[in-house]
Amino acid sequence: MNIAILAAEVAPWSKTGGLGDVCGALPGALAALGHRVITVSPRYKAYADAVDTGVRAYIHLYGQTHEVRYFHAPDPASAAVAHGGATAGRCHHLFVDHPSFHRGGIYGDSHGSYGDNLFRFALLTRAGIEACTRVPLFDGEPLGEDVVFHANDWHTALVPLYLDALYRPAGRFRRAGTVLGIHNAGHQGAFAAHQFAGLDVSSRWWPNTDFSGQLNLLKTGVVLADRIVAVSPTYAREVCGELGFGLGHLFGARGRDLLGIVNGVGEEWNPETDKHLAAQFSADDLSGKLVCKRALQRELGLPERDVPVLALIARLDPQKGVDLLMQALPWLMQHDVQLVMLGSGSAALEQQMREMEWAYRDKARGWVGYNEALAHRIEAGADMFLMPSRFEPCGLNQIYSLRYGTVPIVHATGGLADTVETLNPSQDRGTGWAFRSFTADAFIDAMSWALLTWWRFPAEWRAMQQRGMRQDWTWERSARAYERVYAEAAGRRS
Ligand code: ADP
Repeated sequence: MNIAILAAEVAPWSKTGGLGDVCGALPGALAALGHRVITVSPRYKAYADAVDTGVRAYIHLYGQTHEVRYFHAPDPASAAVAHGGATAGRCHHLFVDHPSFHRGGIYGDSHGSYGDNLFRFALLTRAGIEACTRVPLFDGEPLGEDVVFHANDWHTALVPLYLDALYRPAGRFRRAGTVLGIHNAGHQGAFAAHQFAGLDVSSRWWPNTDFSGQLNLLKTGVVLADRIVAVSPTYAREVCGELGFGLGHLFGARGRDLLGIVNGVGEEWNPETDKHLAAQFSADDLSGKLVCKRALQRELGLPERDVPVLALIARLDPQKGVDLLMQALPWLMQHDVQLVMLGSGSAALEQQMREMEWAYRDKARGWVGYNEALAHRIEAGADMFLMPSRFEPCGLNQIYSLRYGTVPIVHATGGLADTVETLNPSQDRGTGWAFRSFTADAFIDAMSWALLTWWRFPAEWRAMQQRGMRQDWTWERSARAYERVYAEAAGRRS
């Protein structure tokens, strides 16, 4: 198949969260299965490995014609694993260059979202469609019109609208299927109705974009895409209700075309090869994990003692439920434990993290900021990982934790419910704790079980770690599921 993945973020070039991770890793896994894949994302800055292809496109939007240029980089991961370069030749990353993308942030800055985001992402979407026939990437040929478009979140959700409104009436992309990926339905790209006029499509398409009198890009994709993929099965059910943030009934109406696929985890999150760690380890030999724990305690200036280390890494956003941990903190700090938090975002929560450090100097560390290397060392060095998210479409950190033998304690929502099974020692089952009600009491209850098991039942603890570490969270598993959906989307058109 020919697959075009359009997204606002593609890691490692651009990333604020799970969206970037998925769009950075899935393409290489699809190419390894034999497909031809491109990603198209903005050129937010001058990426060292991306070169100008010399190809231009001229896109009409907001009553004017805009020139975009395409930059190109090969896929780093598939280049590394390719045998004889065969896989590397099948996966390409394109970056759309336009002055409106050259800013400090991806979506906004300290003043809020950029005022021209509708223009920026409509431009990206159009440029992504155009790239398929313009940029010669595969032995001098472009990807072509027989493609499956994989749009992601509201930013590129206009793909099916543009195909229906502009391209198919002109006889183009007639057999192209469309898949809309839902990473977070909380952000929908809602704009004032009058902005519709800038999109360069006839007003007869307005009903497909109108939601409560506003232009809503995610709604457009939900209504018009051939298939919709949420990032976990539980989340696919949840978006049909409250977590659809107003679009629940529309998601529900697409029920037969809506499914969930849990994200994979890249090879950079493999404790056997992770270069950030003081020692590597595996399910068969966990000795390196203790080395990592001591190194983490030393790095953060915590006493190098044999006590449970609990960790949390997150964007400090109300979604992540860090407030629940703050409520549980006095209880937790009564115990002989250490707590490590890494995150940035809400100023109030950052301040609480600093205060926590002052209040519990021998027990707690709150590292404010974004630090990828430290995130790896925390995943490796901690014993338990806390993820009390209010909602969590998929979640990656709990999967990293499973791979690193760091037992996850999670709120049973979205992808957390699909990936973490509560310990049941009598049946040799379970990989952590998933508490059901979103309350500090339920969270404390789960942590109590975890602490008890860690102190009193080391053999059960180790077996639980190993069960988690041996699960298959590779991108290959996810890519095979996406492959089926793409085939369905393409089949619907042909
Ligand atoms: P979301 O996409 O909602 O932020 P996910 O769990 O799906 O949540 O993905 C979060 C990603 O961002 C993970 O790769 C995580 O390690 C990373 N991350 C979040 N905050 C930080 C931070 N402060 N430092 C380093 N990595 C972080």
